[in-house]
Amino acid sequence: MFCQIVAGAAPASVVYSDEKVLAFLDVQPVNPGHVLVIPKVHAARLSELEKETGAQIFRIAMRMSKALARSSVRCEGVTLLLADGEAAFQEVPHVHLHVVPRFKRDGFGLKFGPKYGKRLDRKELDAVAGSIREAMVLG
Ligand SMILES: [Zn+2]
Repeated sequence: MFCQIVAGAAPASVVYSDEKVLAFLDVQPVNPGHVLVIPKVHAARLSELEKETGAQIFRIAMRMSKALARSSVRCEGVTLLLADGEAAFQEVPHVHLHVVPRFKRDGFGLKFGPKYGKRLDRKELDAVAGSIREAMVLG
């Protein structure tokens, strides 16, 4: 679906475009002005994306946040959201970063799971941090 938008074969209300990324309005916005920033190259998951393209997605999301605050859109804050994988609620298999303009009591929220709220002790935290550090050596 997003590849068709990139190819110009499906309509979109585009707010930004360069050689790496495209940003357009979500047709089912959380709030008006909800933007999706996507890579022009097809990548279902973040792990398939070149680092520079990922960096460009974030750069444009930062610019978009500023632009939303200056625009006519109601925007008192911004939530950036990227769901990577089905378990993370990714619904379209093409990487997309949501840039959601927010305002107080707009009704949008994230729900915490039953494990949330339990503080881990330092030993447990350090064990997890060590595991992630080791994995980062691989790239
Ligand atoms: Zn695609």
